[in-house]
Amino acid sequence: MDLHLLDRGRIHADLNFALDGTAVAAHSDPNPDLEYAEFAVWNLVVDHPEATILWDTGSHPDAADGYWPAPLYEAFAHPDAAERDLETALGEVGLAVDDIDCVVQSHLHLDHAGGLHHFAGTDVPVYVHRRELEHAYLSANTTAGGTAYLESDFDHDLNWQVVDQHRHHLLDGIELLHVPGHTPGLLGALLERDGENVLVAGDAAFLEANYEEGHSMGASLLYDSRAAADSIEFLRDVERRHDARVLYGHDPDQFERLRGEF
Ligand SMILES: [Zn+2]
Repeated sequence: MDLHLLDRGRIHADLNFALDGTAVAAHSDPNPDLEYAEFAVWNLVVDHPEATILWDTGSHPDAADGYWPAPLYEAFAHPDAAERDLETALGEVGLAVDDIDCVVQSHLHLDHAGGLHHFAGTDVPVYVHRRELEHAYLSANTTAGGTAYLESDFDHDLNWQVVDQHRHHLLDGIELLHVPGHTPGLLGALLERDGENVLVAGDAAFLEANYEEGHSMGASLLYDSRAAADSIEFLRDVERRHDARVLYGHDPDQFERLRGEF
């Protein structure tokens, strides 16, 4: 089972979103400097003997050209979304959209579901957790739910495959894991490979510090903070049992290290 990490560009945002309270006003320092940071956006191709699987589909190429609503773009800018579109990134590992047999959506936020339009009208199965699909439609159509869902990303004629279980066997050596918190239906995965197992934590931990140091993500990135903490504990347990390398959701330093390897 080979892995290819796809570079889908960088999101620019206040570091406080990913690391809660990195800059907080205090009596002795009423105007601390905020840190504007870059976050990696990646997809993963899992080259399994039975199927070529795409993990997430990244941002829509027009994200910076008005496709993402202005208030969201102000908070989470993705200036290279067009330059780093799915076809370009797949091409760099010798693949085309037609080579993808199966898609797994970790969740349906706009920096993860913006390439689903490539699979509209095809029979390519698209795996998603039931709670995520429900939450995405609720969020897009009511004032309840979250703001980072665009119906135009996911409301397509897709061959949805709905995951209900806490742990879902996808193929030999690939298990999907329900790790709610960042969103209600967030999925991670355990990939059991010759040599090294990989645990995809994804947006359960934006950065290494969320996982390794237990540094909480900002409140606006947590649908359910209690569930998010439980999911980190669950992932740590899986990591220990399987001696796995953990893959974080948007860590730019880890991304740079890994792309030489995967
Ligand atoms: Zn994300």
